[in-house]
Amino acid sequence: MEAWDERSSFQTMDPIRASVATISDKGYAGQREDVSGPLLVRLLQDLGAEVVQQTVVPDEHEAIVHLLTTWVDRASEKSSLDAAPDLIVTTGGTGVTPRDVTPEATKSIIELEVPGLSEALRFTGYGKTPLAVISRGVAGICGRTLIINLPGSPSAVRDGMETLAPILPHVIRMIRGQDTEHHTKHHTEHHHEMNSSVFDERRAVLSVEEAQETILSAVEMLDVERVPLLAAVGRVLAETVSADRNIPPMTNAAMDGYAVRGTEAARGALHLRVVGHVAAGHEAGGVVGPGEAVRIMTGAPIPAGADTVVRFEDTRVEGNHITVFEPPLPGDNVRQAGEDVQAGEQVLEQGTLLRPQEIGMLAAVGRMEVAVFRRPRVAILGTGDEVVSPAETPGPSQIRDANSYAVAAQVQRWGGVAMVLGVARDQEELVRQGFRQALELQADFIITSGGVSVGDFDLVKQVMDAEGEMRFWSLNMKPGRPMAFGAVNGIPLLGLPGNPVAAMISAELYARPALLKMQGHTDWSLPAVRAQLTHSIERKDGRRHYLRVALRETSSGYEAMLTGDQGSGILKSMVQADGLAVIPETARKLPAGSEVEVILLH
Ligand code: AMP
Ligand code: MG
Repeated sequence: MEAWDERSSFQTMDPIRASVATISDKGYAGQREDVSGPLLVRLLQDLGAEVVQQTVVPDEHEAIVHLLTTWVDRASEKSSLDAAPDLIVTTGGTGVTPRDVTPEATKSIIELEVPGLSEALRFTGYGKTPLAVISRGVAGICGRTLIINLPGSPSAVRDGMETLAPILPHVIRMIRGQDTEHHTKHHTEHHHEMNSSVFDERRAVLSVEEAQETILSAVEMLDVERVPLLAAVGRVLAETVSADRNIPPMTNAAMDGYAVRGTEAARGALHLRVVGHVAAGHEAGGVVGPGEAVRIMTGAPIPAGADTVVRFEDTRVEGNHITVFEPPLPGDNVRQAGEDVQAGEQVLEQGTLLRPQEIGMLAAVGRMEVAVFRRPRVAILGTGDEVVSPAETPGPSQIRDANSYAVAAQVQRWGGVAMVLGVARDQEELVRQGFRQALELQADFIITSGGVSVGDFDLVKQVMDAEGEMRFWSLNMKPGRPMAFGAVNGIPLLGLPGNPVAAMISAELYARPALLKMQGHTDWSLPAVRAQLTHSIERKDGRRHYLRVALRETSSGYEAMLTGDQGSGILKSMVQADGLAVIPETARKLPAGSEVEVILLH
């Protein structure tokens, strides 16, 4: 126990935020007083923890799962500003009667079991009563919350807390990512030796950048296709283009006027005889001799002998003579052959984003067709028994598939070819069929929404795992904490969360850079402005928040105002938003007037 130094005290860290649940049919029904719950609260408080929630639920799987997920705030992502507890301790429901389901319910939501904790509880409990061994309690981590099952009896609660007291601060620091002391490093190194990346990943809470990097490194630039010139705008050039001739091809007039001999004209107040005229697009016949001028239009070739153009407005005409009263300098108003582009010169480099001006240059060098990187074909699959196509009439408990269309529209904006596959109901076979259809349609990238959280029917993860490669991440952001990424038949698959706001924001952060890279882009930074918050923001969860804001221009820049309810299912918050205010992980309290980055939603 010496390894647990002075920092292992509850007092030397930010208070542990704990929630306590008594799992008991009788306690719930009021047939028996709940002694263990209040005892647990007191013991935790004695240790310096802040108990943020306490409740009693019956011994029912659903009820327990619902409570835990609500507390961990995984599926609901309800309010953007409140934090999940560091610790949930349950008491009750760990025995061997048919009603004891706490361990099963807990297991169904934890992402990483920590069996040592529950073993330690059984082991020390056994020292007091041999019956301790029939407690089936589990311990594990969901998101950033440690969940521990204790048996229901007050004595088991007391013994259990005694066992846990020296361990908890340390574990919670590690989960918070705050522990950097050497014995922690030792643990980390140990994990590396095990080289179990999936294990590490499921345990880890990834930053936005870590997830972005992993996804980006899993996609490659697509192959090249030739497209008609006008279809190439917004695409990335896949060849290097050189000029086939000079632009302009010959020395020509930059103004309407008279072509003259420059040295002569420079002497001023000249009286010249007009010996001919030349229009744009025509050959200049003849030579301009001394004392002569040729009437010339903009773009027409300068006749031999001349090297300068006097503008009409600087001359006066008298019969077939002109008087130059504003003498030009030699070479004035003349464009030299090749002054824009020389024959053979490289005009556009491979990798250039083709904007209208590049399209103009391609036309100027005679390219009616051009090689560009292919647009990714993106299959988009909704999931959920409750979700139906917007083309159908929804039943009373059904909702229309908003995600597939929102995400398809995003994909199109980013240059992808969106293929909306429809909605797979919550059955493994149907999700699998969706993946198969995506492959048949030769998708280069697959995006699903829903089915990646921790509910009973969240099958996308399972099917990905079975069919291909699945990495599941808890991302240190809000909204959009759960996300799956992997591949089916080598095709990258991004499993977005189901709530529409979370789905769209995750697509923006993770699908967009990948799709841009596949099309040959090298810049996928998001357009952003700085703005001042109109309200103060307080939260303690250490996650990066993306708040929906409306922007208003003021005399000193922009002002960002929250667009109402920030729930991840509130699509209206996106509709009313001009951008996403980025609240950094480290900011706990931002007073009104604080400056934040706002990603623009176009
Ligand atoms: P899930 O992650 O599947 O549990 O979904 C989380 C929430 O998002 C649930 O309330 C779903 O009803 C909702 N949801 C899932 N898919 C869609 C969709 N395609 N369109 C709108 N809402 C959805
Ligand atoms: Mg679902």
